[in-house]
Amino acid sequence: MALHWIYPSLLTVLSFIPNHALRNYPDNEVTLLDSMSALGDLGWEAYPAEGWEEISVMDERNTPMRTYQVCNVMEANQNNWLRTSHIPRDGAQRVYIEIKFTLRDCNSLPGVPGTCKETFNMYYYESNNANLWFIKESQYAKIDTIAADESFTQVDVGDRVMKLNTEVRDISNLSKKGFYLAFQDVGACIALVSVRVFYKKCPLTVLNLARFPDTVTGGDSALVEVRGSCVNDSEEFEAPRMYCSADGGWLVPIGRCVCKAGFGEHEGHCQPCRPGFYKASALDAYCVKCPLHSHAPLERAPECACEKGFYRAELDPRSMACTRPPSAPESPISTINETSVTLEWSPPRESGGRGDITYSVHCRKCSEDGRKCGPCGSGPHFIPRQFGLSLPKVHVTDLLPHTNYTFSIEAVNGVSDLSPSPRQIVSVNITTSQTVSVILKERKSKDSITLAWQGPERASGAVVEYEVIYYEKNQRDQNYTVLKTRSNVMTVDGLKPGTTYVFRVRARTDGGYGNYGGEIELETSHEDMLAIGDPNQSTILAVSIAGGIVLLVLLVACFVVSGRHCGYIKAKQDPDEEKMQFQHGRVNLPGSRMYIHPHTYEDPNQAIRDFAKEIDVSSIRIERVIGAGEFGEVCSGRLKLPSKREIYVAIKSLKAGYSEQQRRDFLSEASIMGQFDHPNIIRLEGVVTRCKPVMIITEYMENGSLDTFLKKHDGQFTIIQLVGMLRGIAAGMSYLSEMNYIHRDLAARNILVNSNLVCKVSDFGLSRVLEDDPEAAYTTRGGKIPIRWTAPEAIAYRKFTSASDVWSYGIVMWEVISYGERPYWEMSNQDVIKAIDEGYRLPAPMDCPVVLHQLMLDCWEKGRSERPKFGQIVATLDKLIRNPNSLRQLANSSIWEDPPTPEPSVSTVEDWLDSIKMGQYKEHFCGAGYVTLDSVLYVTVSDLGRMGVSLAGHQKKILSSIQILQTQQGTHVQV
Ligand code: AMP
Repeated sequence: MALHWIYPSLLTVLSFIPNHALRNYPDNEVTLLDSMSALGDLGWEAYPAEGWEEISVMDERNTPMRTYQVCNVMEANQNNWLRTSHIPRDGAQRVYIEIKFTLRDCNSLPGVPGTCKETFNMYYYESNNANLWFIKESQYAKIDTIAADESFTQVDVGDRVMKLNTEVRDISNLSKKGFYLAFQDVGACIALVSVRVFYKKCPLTVLNLARFPDTVTGGDSALVEVRGSCVNDSEEFEAPRMYCSADGGWLVPIGRCVCKAGFGEHEGHCQPCRPGFYKASALDAYCVKCPLHSHAPLERAPECACEKGFYRAELDPRSMACTRPPSAPESPISTINETSVTLEWSPPRESGGRGDITYSVHCRKCSEDGRKCGPCGSGPHFIPRQFGLSLPKVHVTDLLPHTNYTFSIEAVNGVSDLSPSPRQIVSVNITTSQTVSVILKERKSKDSITLAWQGPERASGAVVEYEVIYYEKNQRDQNYTVLKTRSNVMTVDGLKPGTTYVFRVRARTDGGYGNYGGEIELETSHEDMLAIGDPNQSTILAVSIAGGIVLLVLLVACFVVSGRHCGYIKAKQDPDEEKMQFQHGRVNLPGSRMYIHPHTYEDPNQAIRDFAKEIDVSSIRIERVIGAGEFGEVCSGRLKLPSKREIYVAIKSLKAGYSEQQRRDFLSEASIMGQFDHPNIIRLEGVVTRCKPVMIITEYMENGSLDTFLKKHDGQFTIIQLVGMLRGIAAGMSYLSEMNYIHRDLAARNILVNSNLVCKVSDFGLSRVLEDDPEAAYTTRGGKIPIRWTAPEAIAYRKFTSASDVWSYGIVMWEVISYGERPYWEMSNQDVIKAIDEGYRLPAPMDCPVVLHQLMLDCWEKGRSERPKFGQIVATLDKLIRNPNSLRQLANSSIWEDPPTPEPSVSTVEDWLDSIKMGQYKEHFCGAGYVTLDSVLYVTVSDLGRMGVSLAGHQKKILSSIQILQTQQGTHVQV
């Protein structure tokens, strides 16, 4: 008979057990049976009938719970069975049984016999049959004997302590559809509060873009290997696998899936790339923005298509910006040395966004009359090569003398072949010359020497003139004389008797000066007689080997020896040379041509007639306005003179309504310019005075005035190119000073630049400085005297000399190196005058070589006699050009707060930018497709602007650092 008195105690116990807590199971457990969640009868079999008894109790939420109890402790030989209904195993091979129960200890029951037990047994029986109504005891397999153990919940119930035990057992290797559980009581007092049967699984999970399904754990403790399947829009990179452990945990993931091209990974799944983004390969993790000049209008783009006009070379990574062919190379300079030429040019302004620019040079030649033109063939020799040049420079030798060559230089990059547009080229025209090769004859007297030389091949036509330089042996530094003639015979007189002189001759052709021939030493005779050297006595010197031309030059005339003139060494020109003398012929000493001020003419029109050629207006075609001059518009156009090639010209016209004085002033520029003939002085082609408007025609200078040109090309030239320009200006000024012409307004704005980057001095108007007018000294046309360019003595007391022009030249140097910066910036004129007087001088511009700043400072010596002469400036600059290393040391390399030299170890764009403290532009570079350090090497100022680096200082810092990178990587020889 059951001990019913224990029930209230059980109720009390259960109300302490929160039902919901009991049902909160881990998610890797799948419950097969839970007695506590049964709403109605559990329907378990209990036999014999007086054994286990089903009792409903309420939990703390008043939810009914099914419990089974037995407490037949007073009687011996108890064998009470409680059997569950059939529990399907649901595929599990191993199931767990968790039971919660209370067990009265026999001692706490007064008067119970010794047969009282404190354990019960748990069995199972596997079966496919869910409806068995009877199972023999012997058919059950025992799971365990269950005793109350340590793991119980202790509850005070009145004066007793109740213990709620929890025990878990498992059964493995189940194979039938299900099983029955049975609890055997052999005489204990038990309340079976709950029975839960569950198995464990590894729950569905997504790892490495592979989905691993819910997986039931193995039957014994073995791991279950599970193959994952790739999530949508992903593909296997390596077969994904994982192990499900016996206790329901995933172990050891192997392999992975990756999102397909066009899809990016986002929180464990693959999302299509948004428009404007792409992913080229399954191996990339994320979609990235389309690189510069490409687009992806639709979702899920595996790559971005290039914008129109941009291309992607076969080997370009998809992450690289689309690029285009480069623009034409710029600013070509040709340095002709007779039958060879060095061509140098600046890289194209537009690199097209690539770093793989190379250059090719195409050659065409034309006969002298321009009629027969064709490819150069295999004659010329290109050093280092003709095509695929990596540096913007080539040396061409073995050209034919006196031939017009056109070199077309094109820049090519990796996408040039993909573009249907014609390649952009820049062309250089040159005419070769040849050295005066042999001095054939000479005759000597006491104070004169007559020389005859063999000119370059076909001397007529191509040679503009010869230049003869001579000096007393070993006296070159003290005194030397330069004479010019169109003939190849010259008598030099006024020499000392019995003295050895050294002579050298060079020719000038349309293409510039050739080389001097070798030196020849000749001695004047001691006797006062005219000795005609016979061929044996003649010095016949082979100075250079220049083709087998035999040109017999006959000495046809004897020249009257003129008397001494004030100790000058002077020469008597041949009749041909006579024609080159100024007809007005005032102060002209033979052999030294002096500039004649137009004011010295009583009739200014005579000066025009003497020095400027009248041009028929019908030979001029005006094309467009290019500027505004003081007297009217400046236009460009063409001039075609009879039997000459058509040339481009600049045309200055005198606006209507002028006074006679204005006409004279206007034309005075032509009568000054017409006296000059030098490659670095703007050449006068002629004037139109016989019809209106009156015009001055000069050669056309494609790049306009130097100051504007430099500002437009800020930072784009190599220092050698800048020094080349300065050398040209100095050579022109040297010529002017030899002609005794003082410019007075030398400034970058008055220098013109042609397409070959040749600089020529211009602006010879008379009206700008009126010397005779004391008031006019401080005014110039439209304003003040150019204070910033003018030497202090010229400002103070109008002492204008070639030395004051040298001062101005120093300022021009500063303008050139600083790319057109305004001298003394925004200081007022008065402050400039004061500062100069107190010894202040302009500091070196950014990146200015020390030697150039020193030369500027020399030009700005207070004492004008201490300033260098233009001839010396030319020599200094020539030396620097020959030895570019001397330009390496920069005057202001310390002005960088942080020297932008990148760490030698940098290997990524990010590290490089960090190392020059420009890390804020990392995204700009990356977004523009500059992902490798190599690609950065060719970034230009316009590339920087496009990617949003707009601060000039930052641009300069980055570009300087790129120059250093280039030198470190040996990609660019920059001096
Ligand atoms: P000017 O009156 O000489 O100062 O000339 C006015 C402007 O016309 C200059 O600043 C130049 O831009 C332009 N110019 C003058 N002469 C030439 C030339 N020979 N070739 C090209 N541009 C010229």
